[in-house]
Amino acid sequence: MLSALVSLTALAMAGAITGSFLALISQRYSPPLSTTQWLRSLCHPASRCSGCRQRLAWRDLIPVISWLALGGRCRYCHCAITAQPLIFELICALIFISSGTLFSSRVMQLCVALCGCLLLLLADIDRRYQRLPDPLTSLLLWSGLGSSLCQSELTASAAILGALSGYLAFWLLALLYRLLRKREGLGRGDMKLFAALGAWGGWQALPLIATIAASLAFGLLMIFYLAGKTWDKEAPLPFGPFLAAAGWYVVIAQSPLSQNLLL
Ligand SMILES: [Zn+2]
Repeated sequence: MLSALVSLTALAMAGAITGSFLALISQRYSPPLSTTQWLRSLCHPASRCSGCRQRLAWRDLIPVISWLALGGRCRYCHCAITAQPLIFELICALIFISSGTLFSSRVMQLCVALCGCLLLLLADIDRRYQRLPDPLTSLLLWSGLGSSLCQSELTASAAILGALSGYLAFWLLALLYRLLRKREGLGRGDMKLFAALGAWGGWQALPLIATIAASLAFGLLMIFYLAGKTWDKEAPLPFGPFLAAAGWYVVIAQSPLSQNLLL
């Protein structure tokens, strides 16, 4: 019991530290930057308060604790600071706990944690910029194909077929939308993300992923509608966050332990 508690705490701490770094990766992304420039921006400049530009000390950057201790305000100018790092740290802690407890092999634990981290980054960047950066979707695709070699629940052929059919399905859907509505409906990033999720879940999981993602998007639009707000029809609703959430559910649900719990 004690050892389980220690390992859960260790997973949560590792997740929170990773989440803090992922928040920085997401914050430093900007569409005009090349991949090299984006990577360089992670080292320089140092983290500063967006209000007073004061350089943040290590004690201001301790995952979860710093934000809570300061009450979400800058230590120096007391202006409100974004909760994005805190949200990343908490979500990443959950990602590490679920991948560490639901999968038995160390390789799969690492692969699934990587998958969760990439989905979190993609969802956040797509939410803010309507972009799904190629380096992230490519890494998600190749880690999905690679992980299919390390598990018995998904064969390599199902993963390859999942990637191909995922891309083709969204490509056809985008073509159909363009023909009917005379404008773009799905971006290439969505096609690549759906292909990567096909590699993770196999071709059999694609209908479920698409259904969950579409239901989540529809649910959000309904909430907007019921709240008396309308979605700007000219501003496209980013589909990446919904695909990421649906893909994460499928990845977690296909673990042997989840299968036993669901049965
Ligand atoms: Zn400040």
